[in-house]
Amino acid sequence: MTHFTCPICKQKFTQKDRTLVCPQGHAFDMAKQGYVNLLRPGKGGSVRHGDDKLMVRARTAFLDAGFYNALRDAVTKEVLAHAEKGVTLLDAGCGEGFYTAHIRRALLDADQEPSIYGIDVSKDAVHACAVRDRGIRLAVASIFDLPKENESVDILINLFAPYDAAEFSRVLKEGGTLIRVFPRERHLWELKCAVYDTPYENEIDTLALEGFTLTSETPVTFDLHLSKTEDIDALFKMTPYYYKTSREDQKKLENLQSLDTHGEFLIVTYKKANTLPNVDLTDTSSL
Ligand SMILES: [Zn+2]
Repeated sequence: MTHFTCPICKQKFTQKDRTLVCPQGHAFDMAKQGYVNLLRPGKGGSVRHGDDKLMVRARTAFLDAGFYNALRDAVTKEVLAHAEKGVTLLDAGCGEGFYTAHIRRALLDADQEPSIYGIDVSKDAVHACAVRDRGIRLAVASIFDLPKENESVDILINLFAPYDAAEFSRVLKEGGTLIRVFPRERHLWELKCAVYDTPYENEIDTLALEGFTLTSETPVTFDLHLSKTEDIDALFKMTPYYYKTSREDQKKLENLQSLDTHGEFLIVTYKKANTLPNVDLTDTSSL
């Protein structure tokens, strides 16, 4: 049975009742909801990680209201296009599992017999994901230290989360697929206009990723009609803008009764580049 790997010795866990144990005897108890916390104490384990409970709740309510279904469906379609029977998928930064659970359902419906893993640094988000879908294997863990064996994942998705190209490359099988999502220039433009006197378009980071070959870019655009202050608030808090906005500007949204805006994303798919044969170029003795 496939499982996570031990964060201390990197060997594979086996499950004994509600405990994951590695061959070295490192043991991690699973929560009642079935996930495991693999963040190591002393490695920042005492500070709060990621999104807190209120934030997770607001975002879950917003997403479950269907506002981002167009993006969810487009990402799912991209996964289905690359999945083969018995696919192992890892959602690196799964949050509350809005995308992960839908993808799992779609793969099951397509008879692909998937193994789905999700990790997130936020315990509250992982907890919410476990409540949403018990069929996802979940761990509280860092994107920079993925609890998976080398070359064990067919498809890795990384949505609105930090990334680590070297770590993604390590866990992906040769020729494996990486799917990421980027906001485009005028994503939530009307929301920004409501907050800022001088809104700026998003700058798009380079899409190039070391160790990966870009294979497709799929734009997704959809309208958002928000008719409740709490939906506007939840959407704003999902964006990175929120944290960069003064309290004074944040307040402008609190009086807004409705907002028509639009989402504008780019789904970018990569293939793990072939590993070069390990040739020592400094060794000239054989030349
Ligand atoms: Zn161990």
